[in-house]
Amino acid sequence: MDINIINFDTTIGKKKPRTIAGMVNTNECPFCNVAALVDIIDTDGNIILVRNKYNVMDPSTQLVLIETDQCHSDIPDYPEEQMRRIIRFGVQHWITMLNSGQYRSVIFFKNFGPMSGGTIQHPHMQLVGYPDLDPELMYDTAEFEGITIYQYKGVELNASTTPRIGFSEYNLVLHAEAYTDTNLNGKSALMPKTDSLDLLADLIKETVTFIKEFYNRPNFSYNLFFYNVEGKLRVKIMPRFATPPMYVGYNIHLRPTSIPDFAENLKKHIKNKVF
Ligand SMILES: [Zn+2]
Repeated sequence: MDINIINFDTTIGKKKPRTIAGMVNTNECPFCNVAALVDIIDTDGNIILVRNKYNVMDPSTQLVLIETDQCHSDIPDYPEEQMRRIIRFGVQHWITMLNSGQYRSVIFFKNFGPMSGGTIQHPHMQLVGYPDLDPELMYDTAEFEGITIYQYKGVELNASTTPRIGFSEYNLVLHAEAYTDTNLNGKSALMPKTDSLDLLADLIKETVTFIKEFYNRPNFSYNLFFYNVEGKLRVKIMPRFATPPMYVGYNIHLRPTSIPDFAENLKKHIKNKVF
């Protein structure tokens, strides 16, 4: 059977603090209490990379990237420079893990809100290195194709026409023009040019801002997923709702007929911004 499967240690999972609305089991945010953090790997101002205390997947190495010291903020609230620093810092550490030789695959993602699978409110991303899991089983390249919304400096933003699950999904695809040297000692360099990476950060910020305004509901949830596709970076921005039973039960992907409208509305939002 061609699937990735990994053990999830429920004895560790049970101990995890939960601070997201509807599942709160503690009033103390573990990411606000910086003095108590152990195993800090790197910092850049108020951005902190730390080993995850609750390494629930076995075997794996789980890291947490704390995005800010502002517990109740999120991507739309960040100054442009903060968002760019988070993306540069996160992508650099992701590439370091990918090139370390210790992992067959490394995932880099963000959960936000109760429907995203997250448990901590404080804005953060996660990096997980898996020694055994097959990266080829983690995506299909068709899932990154869609209606082009914006393209500049080798960075394309599109509205997915083959969503992984259903409803609206947005993709960011970095093409060859976004890179100077795509080969580092025979390995994929993956690191885009700084101005393309900064544009990627700006487009993530504006797309998340747009979807949060569009859906405008309490506890709106979304995920960001970063992928290494043939040595080049791609990002999927996915609003999260209850997962459709057609998908859960039968692997049927729903393609909403409103995709062109979503694309047009996001295009208008982006046009009003100057990059
Ligand atoms: Zn906090």
